Formats: sequence, C-alpha cells, structure tokens
Amino acid sequence: MTEWLAPESLDEALELRAEHGGEATVLAGGTFVGILMNQGFLAPQTLLSLGRVQGLDEVEVVDGELRLGAMATHRAVERSAVVRNGWPVLARAFSLVASPRVRNQATVGGVLADADYASDPPAVLTALGARVVLRSPRGERVVGMDELIRGHYETCIADDELLVEVRVPPSPERAVYRKFRSRSSEDRPCVAVAAVRGDAGLRVVVGAVAGRPQELPELCARGGGPAEIGRGYAEAIEPMSDSRGSAAYRRRVIGVEVRRALEALA
Ligand SMILES: Cc1cc2nc3c(=O)[nH]c(=O)nc-3n(C[C@H](O)[C@H](O)[C@H](O)COP(=O)(O)OP(=O)(O)OC[C@H]3O[C@@H](n4cnc5c(N)ncnc54)[C@H](O)[C@@H]3O)c2cc1C
Repeated sequence: MTEWLAPESLDEALELRAEHGGEATVLAGGTFVGILMNQGFLAPQTLLSLGRVQGLDEVEVVDGELRLGAMATHRAVERSAVVRNGWPVLARAFSLVASPRVRNQATVGGVLADADYASDPPAVLTALGARVVLRSPRGERVVGMDELIRGHYETCIADDELLVEVRVPPSPERAVYRKFRSRSSEDRPCVAVAAVRGDAGLRVVVGAVAGRPQELPELCARGGGPAEIGRGYAEAIEPMSDSRGSAAYRRRVIGVEVRRALEALA
C-alpha cells in the first residue's frame, strides 16, 4: 500500500519532504509519475502530493520579474494575460506542449524537476535567463537553469528540497521559440530552439537533442549570419539518437532550425 501525504501548507510540505527524503515521491500534476507507476517502473512507498498546498500556483509579476509558482499548470502559463503580454515567447512555448488535457495537469515544477531532455520549457527558460527557487527546512537557494538540470532525469534538487518557484527576468523585445516535431502534432520535440536578443546580446539554446539544453555563448558572441551560426551549432553539438530521429538527422535539423529561429528573430 502506498502512503498518501497531502499537506495543505508549504511549511507542512517541506517538513514532510525533509522527514521522508528520497523515500517519498513528490507528486505535482502526476502526468509523468502516473505513467511510470502505470507501467511498473515506479512503485513509491509514499506519495507526497502538492495538490492541496495553498499559494504554489500563482503567476504574477514582482518588480518586473515574472514569478511562476511550481504548481502553476502549463495551461495557466499559456493563458495568463500577464505572460502573454510580457513574455509571449513563454506563453507560446508552453502552448506547444502535448494536448490541452496534458497541459491542464502538467505543472511548471513538474516539467523542470523531471528534467526529461525532450521537454519544451527548459530551452526557452534557459534562453530567458530564468532562475529556480529551491526550498527546504534548511533555507532557500536560487539556481540558474544550467545548474538545475545536470542531465537526462538528473537535477541538483536535494532529497529534502522542493522546487517552489521559477523567476523569469523581463523578456527581451525579440525572442523566438521553434519546436520541430518529427512525428505527431502532440509529440515532444525532436529539436527545440529558443533564441533571444537582449541587453546581454544573443542567446541561442537548443533543447531535446542531448541530456541537457545546449548553448554555445562563444559562437553567439562571435556573430555571423543565421546560416553560419546554425552550421556552428550543428557541428558543435553531439546529438543523441532516439525514436524521434537519429543523431545524423538531428544534426541537420539543428542547423536548419537555428537558422530559421535567427531569421525570425531578425
Ligand atoms: C501524453 C504526453 C505528452 C507530452 N508531451 C510533451 C511535450 O510535447 N513537451 C513537453 O515539454 N512535455 C511533454 N510531456 C511531459 C509533461 O509536460 C510532463 O510530464 C509534465 O510537465 C510533468 O509535470 P507534472 O506536474 O505532471 O509532474 P509529475 O508527474 O507530478 O512529477 C514529475 C517529476 O517531478 C517531481 N516533482 C514534481 N513537482 C516537484 C516539485 N515542486 N519539487 C520537486 N520535485 C517535483 C516528481 O517527483 C517527479 O519526479 C508530455 C506528457 C504526456 C503524458
């Protein structure tokens, strides 16, 4: 029998998380955990549900920065007027995830904590310079996306921590997200490209092709046209092969999609 923990406050959730550590599986929207359980890959002793925790699903702007609560659903991000007006690229990226049914369940915290390499939000959040708030009874730390995601299904979240919020700086005027699917329209990306041009210059992040989002700052700083930068990304990244495309196929798509993203940015 699986023990079910359903705290109603964040403090209570953090206490339970610290008490049970890695033995309790955190449950947010359940779209990932549910599949693992149904397929027999995961049989948790304890489930720590965040569904009843008050105040974790807010989408708001504080001092010009967008704050997405860990339990905000993809659908809430996609439909939020605040996000659509201030961070349209983010609304678009979340709107391209799966189907409305999945987006109504899947949460911001869940998609980042599961660190599946083939997710949409990590690339665009990385390009926007987002940071993630991790909290435990020991305190709070704020980490960048590059620190959070260490590899496929691997993050820096400790066994007593919860991801509570994502903070996104003001969006640069120009930002583009492109999702290339090689199979169905509701599928995960084969190649994802987020490109933004802001005060810090050009940032291009390629997702879904390796264990973690790929960014080549030196290449962007060197400049060059869209085709040249696209070629540079295609040559430098070591893509993986999976059911959505072989490494060789992905390499070609990376070149084309980076070029297209930069043309759209211009
Ligand atoms: C049919 C289908 C199609 C999909 N297509 C896409 C797609 O096109 N693009 C895409 O990006 N994704 C896609 N996904 C993935 C989906 O977006 C993720 O499954 C979802 O975002 C996970 O969020 P969740 O809230 O359901 O997480 P859960 O399943 O509840 O949890 C996911 C993981 O994160 C941990 N966790 C959750 N919240 C926290 C927290 N606050 N702190 C610490 N740990 C936490 C859990 O313990 C678990 O390990 C698809 C999923 C399905 C089922």
